[in-house]
Amino acid sequence: MIDVNCLIPSHLIWEARKRIYQVVQRTPLIKSHYLSSLVNGNVYLKLENTHPISAFKIRGAANKILGLPFDEQQKGVTTFSTGNHGLAVAYIAKQLGMKAVICMSPRVPKAKIDRINELGAKIEIYGKSQDDAKVRCEQLRDEEGLTIIPPFDDKAIICGQATIGTELIEDLPTIDTAIVPLSGGGLLAGIGLALKSYNNAIDIVGTSMERGAVMHESLKAGKPIELEEEETLADSLLGGIGLSNQYTFPLVRAMIDQTELVSEEAILNAMGLLIDKHRLIVEGAAATGVAALLKEKQKYEKKNVVIIISGSNVDITVVYDVMKAYLNQNRMV
Ligand SMILES: *Cc1c(COP(=O)(O)O)cnc(C)c1O
Repeated sequence: MIDVNCLIPSHLIWEARKRIYQVVQRTPLIKSHYLSSLVNGNVYLKLENTHPISAFKIRGAANKILGLPFDEQQKGVTTFSTGNHGLAVAYIAKQLGMKAVICMSPRVPKAKIDRINELGAKIEIYGKSQDDAKVRCEQLRDEEGLTIIPPFDDKAIICGQATIGTELIEDLPTIDTAIVPLSGGGLLAGIGLALKSYNNAIDIVGTSMERGAVMHESLKAGKPIELEEEETLADSLLGGIGLSNQYTFPLVRAMIDQTELVSEEAILNAMGLLIDKHRLIVEGAAATGVAALLKEKQKYEKKNVVIIISGSNVDITVVYDVMKAYLNQNRMV
């Protein structure tokens, strides 16, 4: 087993912490009395949906971009993510008055394009797939000197996400368990690094949807693998981890105590429950933590548990359908 402290020494997390507060606000930790009484423990929600782009990815993007040398900042940045990472890069670049180019395939829905446009980033539609969009990013790097901001497999990105862990240590020093949505693993690797360096006994639970949990299958296989993408409510958890993954695979492997896969029905129910009990609209990816908690209630008895509510970028028509199904299932209509 490699020494993960050599991969990312913990002082980098504290440097990230100092750096990002120029552009990123601290998020609230609230107690869920409803979930606490269900599991007979203390359950808290870390509200990463309260950022201006409604997702935690602003932290990693801020740390990466603010840490670039001045001449690279002046040339600008690019990325090929159209999801929350793309929004984060566009937002941070705008705050810093920098150029940002978001590359995407023609298949990206108009609603997403509009949001990135609103943030003032330049959009380049290229090729046929997101892989082609990545090729366009590499051209922009080679031809115009733009810096590619990767979505998760990068030290600065991981340390940015790790600042969530530093806030948890301050707000809940007696934390026993963190439940963390898991896709590429930047979020879990970062939170794991921060929490385990504070107290190695803290449990880190990763949650993914049953349909296409690439990190989970890669952990089982002992190496990064690829899976077919399937439709899921947790669309922000889609995407591979990269066959030549450098950081997040070994870090997640070292940090994670358990993975919990949750069904589409359980994600739907968790989304409905958060609206019903907390008046909190979250996206499917962010609801996987609540779904995992409900799947194994007895495991969290008498524990201080934090669920990372990672974002709330969900189409309002999806919220409508979810709410209808939730109300029907619970015989409230
Ligand atoms: C990106 C994302 C995740 C997963 O983060 P990784 O670092 O890729 O594991 C979870 N939830 C939301 C809302 C996200 O945008």
